[in-house]
Amino acid sequence: MKYLSTRGRAPVLEFGDVLLAGLASDGGLYVPEEWPAQEPLTFDASYPDTAASVMAPYVAPTLGAHELRAMVDEAYATFGHPDVCPVRPLDDGLWLLELFWGPTIAFKDVALQLVGRLFDHELARRGERATIVVATSGDTGSAAIEACRGRRALDIVVLHPAGRVSDVQRRQMTTVDEPNVHNVAVDGTFDDCQDLVKAMFADAAFRDGVSLSAMNSINWARVMAQVVYYVTAARTVGAGDPVAFSVPTGNFGNVFAGWVARRTGTPISQLVVGSNSNDILTRWLRSGVMEKTGVHPTISPSMDIQVSSNAERLLFELYDRNPDLLADRMAAFRDEGRVDTGSTRLASVTEVFDGAAFDDDATCAEIRRTFEATGVVLDPHSAVGVAAARAARRDPDVPMVCLATAHPAKFPDAVEQAIGVRPELPEHLADLLERPERFDELPADLATLQAYVRAAVGA
Ligand SMILES: *Cc1c(COP(=O)(O)O)cnc(C)c1O
Repeated sequence: MKYLSTRGRAPVLEFGDVLLAGLASDGGLYVPEEWPAQEPLTFDASYPDTAASVMAPYVAPTLGAHELRAMVDEAYATFGHPDVCPVRPLDDGLWLLELFWGPTIAFKDVALQLVGRLFDHELARRGERATIVVATSGDTGSAAIEACRGRRALDIVVLHPAGRVSDVQRRQMTTVDEPNVHNVAVDGTFDDCQDLVKAMFADAAFRDGVSLSAMNSINWARVMAQVVYYVTAARTVGAGDPVAFSVPTGNFGNVFAGWVARRTGTPISQLVVGSNSNDILTRWLRSGVMEKTGVHPTISPSMDIQVSSNAERLLFELYDRNPDLLADRMAAFRDEGRVDTGSTRLASVTEVFDGAAFDDDATCAEIRRTFEATGVVLDPHSAVGVAAARAARRDPDVPMVCLATAHPAKFPDAVEQAIGVRPELPEHLADLLERPERFDELPADLATLQAYVRAAVGA
C-alpha cells in the first residue's frame, strides 16, 4: 500500500514512513492510495483475528502478517475484557460498544496501545530513537504515556498545567514508574503547555537533536486501528445485515474510521456524528458550511474542539480525491475560518452521515434517561453519542451501535451530578490515589523546558 497526501504536494510514502511522519510535509493528511476490500471473516473470528485481517493491507510491505499479529496480540492483551471492545444491549434497539477497557479507561487506548508498539518496532528496525512530547489538559497525556511506557526506542515527556488537571487525571500520568516516562507540571495554563510544544517542534536544531515526534490523532495508524471495532461490532450485532453507528465526535478520527469500515465493505447504513456545544461538524452537515467559532468548555472536554482535523480526509473524498481543489479549500478555511462545500458535493456525505448536537443539560438528561431505563451508567461523552443516536436515527428496524468512549469513573463529577451516584474506578486503578507520584515542576519557559528534555533523553 502506498499513501498520498490529501494536498498532493508531499512524497508518496509507505506505511512505516507515514507512521513516523504523522502530518504530511505539505500540511496534508496521509490517506491510502486505494481502499482495499475487506477479506471475509468468519463469525467466530476473535478481536485480534479481525484486527490482523483488517490492518494487513494497510501495513504491507512495511510489516508482514506475523509481525503485525504479534503486536496486535500484545496490544490487546492489556485490555480488561476478553472481547477487547465488547457490545451490550441498551433499550429501543440501541447497543453500546464499550471502548474503555484499556489501561486508561478511554477509547484512545484502542489505537495507542497498538501505535506505541508500531513506533517502537519501526524505530528499532531503523536503529533510531524518538522523543514524544505531548501537552495535555488531562486525558491524552495518560493514553500516550501508557502507549510509550517501557518501549525501548521511545522517550515520552508530558506537559500538564500545574494544579489544573483533576487528581485522577494527574495520577494516571504521574504514578507510572518507568525510566522513559517524564512528567512536567508547568506553571501555566494548558495553552502555555501547547505553545511550548509547538515552539519545540518549530526549533529545527532542537527537534532534530532529540528526534522529536508525535502520535497525534491525525496519524493514519490511529485511524486504521479504530476501523477494527466497527467490523467486530457490526458482525456481532448485525450478523451480516446493515447496522448504524453513533459516535461522540471531536477531531473526527473515530467516526472517520467508521466511514473507512463502510467504504471497505462493512454493511453500515448510517453514521451519526454526536457533538457537544462545539458543533462545527453538525452545523456543516446541516448547512454545507464549515465555520470556526470559539471553543466552549463542556462536561465532555475531549470533544471541546474548534476544528476537526480528521475531517480533511472525508473532504478529500468529497472533492473526488482532487488534491488541488482540496488544498485550495483548506487554504480558504485557514484564512477565512469558513468553507462552503456546496450542497451537491455534500450529498455524497449526507447519504450516510447525520449529526446532532447537545449542550451540557441535554447530556446530563441523557445520562439520567439511560440510567433509569437500563441501569447503564454513561460518561458525558458517551451520553452525547446515545442522545445523537436517539435523535438522528433513520430506521428503527436497523440496530444502532453507540460508541462508549470513556468509562464513567473518568468523569465522576458530571455523572454524580446527573444521577446522584458516584461511579467507582475499575479494579486495576482502585489504589490509584495511594500510589506514589513522580513529576517535575518547571516554569513555562522554552529554554528551561528544552534543557529538561535534552537531559531527560540524554541528548
Ligand atoms: C478523543 C475522545 C473523543 C473524540 O474522538 P475523535 O476521534 O477526536 O472524534 C470522544 N470521547 C472521548 C472520551 C475521547 O477521549
